[in-house]
Amino acid sequence: PLTAGIVGLPNVGKSTLFNAITKAGAEAANYPFATIDPNVGIVEVPDERLNRLEELVDPQKVIPTTFEFTDIAGIVKGASKGEGLGNKFLANIREVDAICHVVRCFEDENITHVSGQVNPAEDIETINLELALADLESVDKRYEKVRKQAKTKDKEAVAMLSVLDKIKPVLEEGKPVRVLDFTEEELPILRSLFLLTSKPVLYVANVAEEEIADPDSNKHLLTVRGIAEAEGAEVVVISAAIEEEIAELDDEEKEMFLEDLGVNEPGLDKLIRKSYDLLGLATFFTAGEKEVRAWTFKKGMKAPQTAGVIHSDFERGFIRAETISYEDYDHLGSEKAAREAGKLRAEGKEYIVQDGDVILFRFNV
Ligand code: GDP
Repeated sequence: PLTAGIVGLPNVGKSTLFNAITKAGAEAANYPFATIDPNVGIVEVPDERLNRLEELVDPQKVIPTTFEFTDIAGIVKGASKGEGLGNKFLANIREVDAICHVVRCFEDENITHVSGQVNPAEDIETINLELALADLESVDKRYEKVRKQAKTKDKEAVAMLSVLDKIKPVLEEGKPVRVLDFTEEELPILRSLFLLTSKPVLYVANVAEEEIADPDSNKHLLTVRGIAEAEGAEVVVISAAIEEEIAELDDEEKEMFLEDLGVNEPGLDKLIRKSYDLLGLATFFTAGEKEVRAWTFKKGMKAPQTAGVIHSDFERGFIRAETISYEDYDHLGSEKAAREAGKLRAEGKEYIVQDGDVILFRFNV
């Protein structure tokens, strides 16, 4: 499954956030084949629609879909020229599909800041610079090879060279490649380079507990928002310390605690949803009396491929996908009512599954 890596300078709240994720973690019983890597935290994806389907179908069991966060360890500063832990940091980032960049916005005299004071702009720049330098090194290596080939007018080499020419000056300025726009032709070439700064990023602003109800009072947050906006990235506001507390509460206690704080949902839930979106993920449902369940697929996937998320047999023997949109299901109240209203569609192999589809797959065994 796709995963988002939690990245940040030391003492910004990464471990606290990762602890919250592990504590909030998905019930292992539901996901027997899930990874048992200590650096991976598996959480359930909060989804109101699943609660609504539970209410309508009254099944024996409800299973949410999950999302994985990876804790990225290692030294940030100097990573691009360093060895050992620095290299490990870069190697770990290379393996994730998106980056949750935790930025310290809370003031606390008792907790040392690596550069002496809370300074989100500098923190963000430090990390972005290390990643850009690492990418620049990959680009330069590639350049050497491709330049010779391009002289022979090799078509692929010429196309690669033009992408490298576009990327290099941006990296030399210490900026991430993701600020650039790429054409349909350039995108596959870009992907083949596996650059760190082309991964999608979400900034996670870690504010103080007392600021969570009115985060805009935190001046550091404004800085983070400004930087994110310039990059076309999103910001999620959390207080890692609070998330860790919330993760230990049961549902009822949680609700009271959130009310006291003056917020309507845990920051972690927002982080999960935004990370999920960032990776282009979406949810379809299966809804039977035995089990109502949410499943993750990648937007743009066709029906057979999506069936394969449940089981490879479903994909191999795919016949059709009997589909009701979530809105129709919600509105009409049952599969039977949807069928009678002509809202149950028989979709074939070319159907592109939509977020919220409630599906019954028909397949040959
Ligand atoms: P890491 O080095 O990025 O993993 O940072 P940690 O999660 O270990 O946090 C560093 C210190 O900051 C710890 O003492 C945490 O208790 C504290 N901390 C983390 N998040 C918050 C927060 O939201 N508010 C406050 N006041 N302290 C926090």
